[in-house]
Amino acid sequence: MVISKEDINQVISKYKKKKITICTIASHSSLHVFRGAYDEGFRRCAVVAKGREVPYQRFKSADEYIFVDKFADVLEEETQKKLRDMSAIIVPHGSFVAYVGLDRIESDFRVPIIGNRNILRWEAERERVTKLFEAANIRKPLKINGPDKIDRPCMVKFPGARGGRGYFVTDSPAGFDEKMKLMIGKGWLTPEDRAKAHIEEYVAGDIYCMHYFYSPLTKEVELLGMDRRHEANIDGLVRIPAKDQMEAGLQPTYVVTGNFPIVARESLLDQAFGMGDRLAEVAEKMVAPGLLGAFCIQTMCTDNLEFVAFEISARQDGGTNTFMNGSPYSYLLYGEGMSMGRRYALEIKRAIKEDRLEDIVT
Ligand code: AMP
Repeated sequence: MVISKEDINQVISKYKKKKITICTIASHSSLHVFRGAYDEGFRRCAVVAKGREVPYQRFKSADEYIFVDKFADVLEEETQKKLRDMSAIIVPHGSFVAYVGLDRIESDFRVPIIGNRNILRWEAERERVTKLFEAANIRKPLKINGPDKIDRPCMVKFPGARGGRGYFVTDSPAGFDEKMKLMIGKGWLTPEDRAKAHIEEYVAGDIYCMHYFYSPLTKEVELLGMDRRHEANIDGLVRIPAKDQMEAGLQPTYVVTGNFPIVARESLLDQAFGMGDRLAEVAEKMVAPGLLGAFCIQTMCTDNLEFVAFEISARQDGGTNTFMNGSPYSYLLYGEGMSMGRRYALEIKRAIKEDRLEDIVT
């Protein structure tokens, strides 16, 4: 059965306010969560998978480490009890969702999460993301209804966590068949994937991933940073002159290998705020209590200076690692050193002060 808000309210009502510990899975974007918690004076607990402890111990990330064989073991009753006993609040990120699993986060994990555990499922399902974008009036790439309808350059995507492997670009039905065959030959796709292909217009633009924080305490959406992705092999491929690209016969892949910070033209910021505000507003109505805490909209900016959104993260996105020490945008709001992780800690601090912890966790 899905864990209710009342269940979590009950758990948090027993928490000792002075003992609250900020905890996350040691992976993905946890380093600035731990550092941010430290900066705001909280105790920190890292759930570490055995064999993956080096960065966390070397960066002295936590006051307490819980070692598990695999991250999903955080669900074990004994571990959950330990977390509740230390008054732990979990900061969710991509690895937490990927390794612990949506079903079990929703049904078996009785530890308060800062943010909305019920919206995590939405980011993973394309139809639901589309619904959010449509309700929020956010432009998304035009969807093409089947390989035989391809009449322009298209990006073909497949479900599942493949890190963009198997994605391809084509501009005709024949091109689609040819690329499918090629990907099947490489072992990246299977013939059954054909029916699962999601085809959308290729947006020839620049990547901007925008990192927002929605505070239920202030009811305000803050723009805290922006990043671009480094993707292999596409970012390497485009460094080869076009003539050589043709001869090399390499297929592009879109596997994220890192992120780098970016700032947008100042005249684009109005659009960026508009998208964040509208998404937070519709999410509150469609998946109460909405997009609490960090969220990210991944976009392409076209030469018409319009953002076209192709994905969201309904929790802290990996691109927040580009501003562990603050971004130009977080500087404008907070001065030096405001990472997304620290912003979470600040929210918890404010909620404790206002006696409103129940309003920020689910
Ligand atoms: P995704 O898995 O949706 O995050 O896409 C992986 C990468 O593919 C993105 O970071 C972009 O580089 C690229 N991409 C995704 N959708 C499109 C699109 N509609 N047009 C152009 N490039 C795209």
